[in-house]
Amino acid sequence: MEKMWSPWRSQYIDAFKEKKLDDGCVFCNAVRENMENSNSLVIQKGKDVFTIMNLYPYNNGHLLVVPDRHISAINQITTEEFAEITKQISFATDALTKLYAPHGFNIGANIGKAAGAGIDKHIHFHIIPRWNGDTNFMPVVGEVKIISHDLLKTRNDLRNIYKEFE
Ligand SMILES: [Zn+2]
Repeated sequence: MEKMWSPWRSQYIDAFKEKKLDDGCVFCNAVRENMENSNSLVIQKGKDVFTIMNLYPYNNGHLLVVPDRHISAINQITTEEFAEITKQISFATDALTKLYAPHGFNIGANIGKAAGAGIDKHIHFHIIPRWNGDTNFMPVVGEVKIISHDLLKTRNDLRNIYKEFE
C-alpha cells in the first residue's frame, strides 16, 4: 500500500487531538463535520467555538454556541474561548433578530443532567428566541426526528445573514 504523506492532514489530526474530541459525542462530531454536508446544522465555525442549530429546537431558530473542546464545566472554559462564545452569542441574537424579530431571548447553559442538560459532557450555551405567548411549547426531547425542511431552510437563512456580518 502506498503511504501518503500530507503535512496539512497531519496538522489537521493534531489539532483534533489537541481539542481532545470524543468519538461518541454529537458536538465533537460537529467539530469534525464538513459544513458543506447537506445535513450539517453548523452555522458558523470560529477558531475554538462554533454555532449550530439545535436538532430538537424548543422554538424556531434555537441555536447552540459550543466550545470545540469536549469539556463539561464552566471553569474549564478559557478566557479566550469565553471571548469567542460571547461574540458568537451576540452574532446569534443579531441574526435571529434580523430573521425572525423575536420579542426576547433566553440565553444560558444547563449544567448537569439535574439542570436539564441533554448532553452534559460537552458544555453548550442555548440561544432561544422567544415570542409573547409562546410559553406552551415545551417539547419531548430525545424523540428521533428527521431533519425537517424548515430546519434546513432556517439554517440557510441564518448562514446567509452570518455572511453579511463577516
Ligand atoms: Zn464533545
